[in-house]
Amino acid sequence: TASPINGLREALSGIAMAEDPATLRLKSRDFFWFSPILKPLLEGREAALVAMPRTRDEVIRIAAAAARHRVPVTVRGGGTGNYGQAVPLEGGLLLDLSGLDRVVWARPGVGRFEAGARLLEIDRALRDQPEASGRWELRFHPSTRKQATIGGFIAGGAAGCGSCTWGQISDPGAVLAVQVVTLEETPRVLELRGSDVLKVLHAYGVNGIITEIEVPLAPWQPWAERILAFPTLGDAARFGWALAAAEGIAKKEIGIFDRRIPPMLKRVAPLMPGGQAMAIVMVSEPQAAALADCAADHGGSVVYERDPEEAEGAAFDGKGTMPPLYEYTWNHTTLHALKVESAITYLQVRFPEGGELALVEAMEKRFGDELLLHLEFQRRFGRVFVSSLPLLRFRSPERLGEIVAEVETMGGAVSNPHTYVLDNAGWKRTDAPQARFKALADPHGLMNPGKLLEQTR
Ligand code: FAD
Repeated sequence: TASPINGLREALSGIAMAEDPATLRLKSRDFFWFSPILKPLLEGREAALVAMPRTRDEVIRIAAAAARHRVPVTVRGGGTGNYGQAVPLEGGLLLDLSGLDRVVWARPGVGRFEAGARLLEIDRALRDQPEASGRWELRFHPSTRKQATIGGFIAGGAAGCGSCTWGQISDPGAVLAVQVVTLEETPRVLELRGSDVLKVLHAYGVNGIITEIEVPLAPWQPWAERILAFPTLGDAARFGWALAAAEGIAKKEIGIFDRRIPPMLKRVAPLMPGGQAMAIVMVSEPQAAALADCAADHGGSVVYERDPEEAEGAAFDGKGTMPPLYEYTWNHTTLHALKVESAITYLQVRFPEGGELALVEAMEKRFGDELLLHLEFQRRFGRVFVSSLPLLRFRSPERLGEIVAEVETMGGAVSNPHTYVLDNAGWKRTDAPQARFKALADPHGLMNPGKLLEQTR
């Protein structure tokens, strides 16, 4: 028959495909269910066909055929996005890029990777092939390091473990180059370098298929893990600030948690004294003593420690009973909390420069049991940068809206995680270069339709 999907399927013979109901369902989902608002909107939206290319040439064949048959295309990496970014709103083709998983090359300070390479596997490859000049690693990764791909991180993520030293993906120099395949009858392979990479960064795959990514690498450190307890959230937050500001201590993670959060984190809960605020930290092992001194200055003490070998064994090989501690930070905190309390969801808040710690304490007082603060410290533009993924006990969309409005009145900037529309997501706004690039890379408007309010064709 002459349906576009049938035409596409025929054109793609020889490329791995799936269309059994279980695979279609699985590959059409991400972690949108963190949001009680997105859940009913996105549940059940499914692609008609999944393609699983292994090479760029196969991607080019798929792009050409989808353009010719006018089939919508939604790209997917690990499918760990939180906003339904990878959910195909108009069905069509789900393009699973996780088969493009090679290290293209790696040199001291820089590496080039295929878009479907998982972040943990990139770091494993860099570990197993150290350069003569030492070992390197990705500067930062989301807490979903194990499942997330580097393409998905660039197209749908923001920051993570390592951001307390290296900032975010959108910061100058964080992504050196991106290779993009356009969705046209005769696809082009474009190389975007320097600030041109912003055309596709955090664009939810609406404007081209990213096939390769070049990023700077950081010198590896023997990362030790620590959990610390503090009398109050204010003490823990001041410690987080001091550690983030201490350039002399090499660090990879500074997460700070309200006293009500540790009891919701399965293996962490028994380690924490009741009623205390918590910090989860990764520092270079030789500097663990300096870290403990910094904590003591703020009334904190170490309640759990793991050396670098054991921490790596947990991350790379699943050794031991305690997962890597970064799997309790960033949006993993929300995941653990959701498992014990189904009404939990979250917000994303940035704190205003100069008033960060005062706002932390004001929010703690103002929202009581409705909002439980979880801070993630970052280093950006030469200063400490405080962001938060507070847990929110959801009552209704209206109440959530009120809380967002109130947090903004108090001086916080909220990036709304309860929308799948790119234009609505607060500070992650699309800008003109992205819209212009879409006209060029996706002239038929087939890529991830529905994720942009104003599509430039
Ligand atoms: P996917 O979910 O597959 O895709 C994300 C978006 O990018 C989609 O719109 C997709 O269409 C598009 N896309 C994927 N690959 C390509 C490509 N090659 N070309 C063009 N477009 C593409 N995010 C953070 O930033 N920091 C965190 O610490 C963090 N923690 C998380 C914790 C949990 C428990 C969960 C569930 C999510 C978390 N996230 C976090 C969100 C998400 O895990 C990350 O952003 C991750 O990097 C997404 O990668 P992915 O491969 O799973 O992308």
